[in-house]
Amino acid sequence: MIACSSALRTFRNIAGFCAVASSQQEFSRLLRPCIKGTRRFFSSPGHMEVVEGEADKTMIREGKAVLAAGVATDKVFYNPVQEFNRDLSCLVLSAFLDRFKIRLEEKQAKKQARRAENGNPNSEFPPFRARVLDAMAATGLRSCRYALQSPLVAEVVANDSDETACQAIRLNAEANNCADKVIVTHQDARRLMINSGFDEQWFHAVDLDPFGSASPFVEGALQCVADGGLLMATCTDTAILCGNFAEACYARYGATAVRNPAHHEISLRIVLYYLANRAMHHNKNIEPLISVREGHYVRVFLAVHRGAQEAKQVVMKASYMKNCTVCHNIQLQPICEPHKTAFYNASLSGGSTCDICGTVMKIGGPIWNANIHDNAFVTILLSNLDKDSSQYGTKDLLRGKLTMIQEELPDQPFYIQSKDIFKVVHCLPIPSRNFFSALHHAGYKYSPTHCELDSIKTNAPFDVVWDIIRCWVKQNPIAENRRSEPKIARILGPEPKIQANFTLHPDADFGSRKNKMLRFPTAGVKGPMARPKRLPWERSPPSTEDDTDAEVKKAKLDGNNGA
Ligand SMILES: [Zn+2]
Repeated sequence: MIACSSALRTFRNIAGFCAVASSQQEFSRLLRPCIKGTRRFFSSPGHMEVVEGEADKTMIREGKAVLAAGVATDKVFYNPVQEFNRDLSCLVLSAFLDRFKIRLEEKQAKKQARRAENGNPNSEFPPFRARVLDAMAATGLRSCRYALQSPLVAEVVANDSDETACQAIRLNAEANNCADKVIVTHQDARRLMINSGFDEQWFHAVDLDPFGSASPFVEGALQCVADGGLLMATCTDTAILCGNFAEACYARYGATAVRNPAHHEISLRIVLYYLANRAMHHNKNIEPLISVREGHYVRVFLAVHRGAQEAKQVVMKASYMKNCTVCHNIQLQPICEPHKTAFYNASLSGGSTCDICGTVMKIGGPIWNANIHDNAFVTILLSNLDKDSSQYGTKDLLRGKLTMIQEELPDQPFYIQSKDIFKVVHCLPIPSRNFFSALHHAGYKYSPTHCELDSIKTNAPFDVVWDIIRCWVKQNPIAENRRSEPKIARILGPEPKIQANFTLHPDADFGSRKNKMLRFPTAGVKGPMARPKRLPWERSPPSTEDDTDAEVKKAKLDGNNGA
């Protein structure tokens, strides 16, 4: 049993301290006397702070919220690695609600004008009060941060199907003085969302952050999100999304991944395709605002709009992929092409074998082939972060990621991963700046990708990329026995059609790289944590060995097996 009264007392003390503490140091100074045997760990100024005291009284501060992890140590899921995810979510939610309010008020002003014309000028609209659903709230830390850090949020429904988690959320909401805004519900998230949709209790933002795939919850989320509202979804089953278990990927997302070094962006595009596809069934369409791959998960933020006509356009934003597993050549195969006012089935593009190495191409997809970010929205996020970064512990990583996302070429769905492409022919890697310079001199665009270190997006066709590598191999020959291998001979055999110039160009590098921004997490950041443990009497034992095997396999597929 949880020691509710003592824990609650401790939280109230902390909440009081939060109200009067003007800085992190002040907060720690005030907190210290009330906990015996206090130890403190600071990862960096303004970063997550962990304060340990007596057993079961460990408190964590993140953003403007305090979490009593002592309640949650082995029963409720809390993952400190996800701080970046929560910081980004708070930043996006605030910016999105500002945008939503402006657009709503513009619509209301037009309605008001029409009413005035009809002789009813005095009717007023109620002020905008945002409702947010945190469908899998776990400890409630994210819900509390939404309530505290987004001024337009009037109510956060923090739901969890686990009773222990619900107790933790209530206590954490009390500790943060936001119990009036954080409404705790204890039910299956799918039932809650579908019932809310039926009752027209719309949410202006819905957050899905489950273990594994968000796909089982998407149907409900699409039904309860307001017109133009925000849907945030995380998927941690990256093993499936990155090209393993094709049948499992198709079962969850209606698409298959391919084995290609650009798998992280492909996984984002599969999730977006799935969301667009499900939205289409409800005569809705999606507007991706920002899509992020980080660590063990992908997370997408998108606005959901009603509109049957726009929903039909989804077919033009989806494509299959043709992938060569030998030289990493990957091409899009559209599903439809426009013809006057209708859409016709698209013709097959190219042959069934790879132009570079002659290998039979593999098919995958469909994937989302349109923009995955809204650059104007990302600019607002960066601006808001610069205005007040004190509530974001991972602000340096946030700034680096958002800058990289701004730099990405918007119309290139894939990228080349340096460490993989040079391995194909076993040549010396081309130093990054020389590779950028060769593309620059040849007149092509290129950019980094936030998905992967040492990777590059470019509008240069794949045969041009291989021509550059062929020129490099002429200057830096590979071993003769390697060169005689059939697949390498096929790739390096043709004479390059361009003469690559590897001379360093002063403008060849990207801003985020030149300015040495923190673009990827530093070493030591690990993947997902284990699922929350249940107490022995809460856990029903597997009836057979097969059940145990099935549980282990599912945990691996969902990406939650790492502690
Ligand atoms: Zn090939």
